[in-house]
Amino acid sequence: MEKVLTDSYGRQIRDLRISVTDRCNFRCFYCLPNGEPPLARKETILTFEEISYISEIFVELGIEKIRLTGGEPLLRKDLEKLIEKLSKLKNQKSKFKNQKLQDLALTTNGHTFPQRAEGLKKAGLDRVTISLDSLKTDNFQRITGVDKLSEVLEAIEAAKKYDFQPIKINAVIVRGYNEDELVAFADFARQYDVSCRFIEFMPLDSGHEWKREQVVSGKEIYETINQVFPLKLKTTSRGNETAWKYHFIDGAKGEIGIIAPVTEMFCGQCSRIRLTADGQIRTCLFSTTEHNLRDVIRSGANRTEIIEFIREVVFKKEPHHYINEPKFVQPTRTMSFIGG
Ligand code: SAM
Ligand code: SF4
Repeated sequence: MEKVLTDSYGRQIRDLRISVTDRCNFRCFYCLPNGEPPLARKETILTFEEISYISEIFVELGIEKIRLTGGEPLLRKDLEKLIEKLSKLKNQKSKFKNQKLQDLALTTNGHTFPQRAEGLKKAGLDRVTISLDSLKTDNFQRITGVDKLSEVLEAIEAAKKYDFQPIKINAVIVRGYNEDELVAFADFARQYDVSCRFIEFMPLDSGHEWKREQVVSGKEIYETINQVFPLKLKTTSRGNETAWKYHFIDGAKGEIGIIAPVTEMFCGQCSRIRLTADGQIRTCLFSTTEHNLRDVIRSGANRTEIIEFIREVVFKKEPHHYINEPKFVQPTRTMSFIGG
């Protein structure tokens, strides 16, 4: 009997991240400070039909979670239509295995989310992660390049209203920008009953300005919050999750997540694979090579050939990233293109 997708280190691949566009309307300094590079032409971007077909194959091969990301995924016209197609995979038993999609999620900067939340829910979206790097208007603008804090806060309200539970908030913590807001974020998690997840700054910015001194370690994040709001680990193992998750010891609502890929590498448990907007498979955020699934599909390959291609690519997944080694080379593609 065929196995689920597995790499040469025995890691099972269960989580597919699909970047649906590399365009973005924010200019986060740690991601896309100067806007998109001259864009891939429209024909190179996967159509919804192609994304659905690829996703169906991936689900057949054992993928249980799909996250749509970007760039800003809500900039892709009629994203609801794609979600509607993908949500059908939650009910569809595969032909030769009993795999099903269990979780369909979206990562967004929150722009236009309040107006679209209801439609996204109806289309079958299960969960949403909203990025929010500062709770102060000026600092939000300094970090993201846009004056949209109030809209992002409305997006969080809309996510609650339409029951996208559990709601996750992503904040990239960068020294000199927002490490002084950690306690305020923890308080926000308690008040709003959301999961605030703090991410270490990774060298994936288009400006190539990343500096190690700017990385606020997961340990420092934990200690800063724990001094004010004592925390307790939710589980002693995080399985193949990227975040260590904490409760508040005093029983308050909300949750803290700490994602520390730079100072506490978690590649050994990685279950992820990524598909870029132009149809390249990336087996690691930090891959320096990509695998052109789009051309395989457009060349008329049959299903068996496509599956064979995917299996071979996955098998070659990197053992781990090299951020902390002298030979580290920052990938040419940025987080906005790879899909965070
Ligand atoms: N535009 C959407 C958003 O911002 O939520 C989705 C795409 S964005 C690339 C996905 C996530 O990657 C965001 O939460 C963002 O904060 C994170 N991210 C981007 N650049 C990063 C970097 N250099 N280091 C760590 N996280 C980063
Ligand atoms: Fe855009 Fe998201 Fe990158 Fe910010 S993090 S520039 S919102 S893609």
